[in-house]
Amino acid sequence: MREAKNIVYSEKVMQESDLFRVLESLIKKVGLFDNRILKGDTVLIKPNFVAPFPKATTDLKSIDFFVTKIREAGGIPVIGESSGFEFDTEATFQILGIKEFAEERKVELINFDKTEYTTMELSDLGRVEIAKAALEAKLILNLPVLKKHSITQITGAVKNFLGFLSKTSRRYLHFHRLEDGIVALARKFEGSIHFVDARHMLSRAVFSQSRPLNYYLAGLDPFSLDHFGSRLLSVNPESVKYLKGVGQYHIEGFIPDELPLPVTGSFFKERIYRMTYSTLYRLDTIKCSLLGGNSMIPSLHWYLGIHPEIGKVTQEELEELSLLCPVGAINIEKRNITREKCARIRCLKCYHQSKSGKVILRGFGSLRYRG
Ligand code: SF4
Repeated sequence: MREAKNIVYSEKVMQESDLFRVLESLIKKVGLFDNRILKGDTVLIKPNFVAPFPKATTDLKSIDFFVTKIREAGGIPVIGESSGFEFDTEATFQILGIKEFAEERKVELINFDKTEYTTMELSDLGRVEIAKAALEAKLILNLPVLKKHSITQITGAVKNFLGFLSKTSRRYLHFHRLEDGIVALARKFEGSIHFVDARHMLSRAVFSQSRPLNYYLAGLDPFSLDHFGSRLLSVNPESVKYLKGVGQYHIEGFIPDELPLPVTGSFFKERIYRMTYSTLYRLDTIKCSLLGGNSMIPSLHWYLGIHPEIGKVTQEELEELSLLCPVGAINIEKRNITREKCARIRCLKCYHQSKSGKVILRGFGSLRYRG
């Protein structure tokens, strides 16, 4: 007999209007309300708000749906997140409209960066700081977005729990067996329910190319979900270290006639990324503990990843551009972008919402970005 834990529920979402019907069907299949939520239970919704970049993050429509369902079951929905290491969580909430949404829907919104952490043992990796709210919730509703990832090859249900850790602990894991940390953390939260948004084929964790993939997945085992997800992304699950040893699972629902051929990522490319990030995070830890001050990582991402630069614009156009920036990073007098204000945001609104050539993308990451 098949155990519910080993089933990946897969549904097609061909258009926006299918979303609620599909989610309704998935919650029935996965048994979200089969005595899992009792009256007064706190259900912590863990979205993926990695950056103030809507394409890369859990959409508010899905969250709104789950908030309603949790309340109907008598539970108390709470949303909690800490953005990617190099991004500002508060600004991410603001720019994605999460703050406004939470106020309107009267849902508690927790910025883990500003909340209380406690420490816990993470297998043999030592002690890490983890958001108390994550340990205290009765149920975790994990709402990740399926994407490719430059270091771990893919990111989905398993890696989404990293947002529960303090940024200091995440930095530590980045140069201490990252995959072991991801696996150990996901195992701490066995019993969570996962709904994976796989509606888009996203080539990277944040500044990504996007094309339709049209799936939504649900299940009780994040490893099986990511294993199937990696196949949907054409990434060979064998090349995803944190998926090593995933057992047999059954896919119920929609399976593509032909799963895309899995491609093993370039070994050297992955090694280079891993070594670079690991070294940078280690140096950053040393610098911060010896000299204090802020992390250098956001600035390094600015130079090595993607950042905007003002192109050829008239004074009037520059003034219009400055109105697009949610954090006032466009300096009209100096006719440039203030790195200190933009580096932890990089929402690229000035690039996407202006005419071609008015804002230019710089940095190594810009070579691959065609957003
Ligand atoms: S300068 Fe552009 S990318 Fe930077 S925060 Fe402002 S709008 Fe976003």
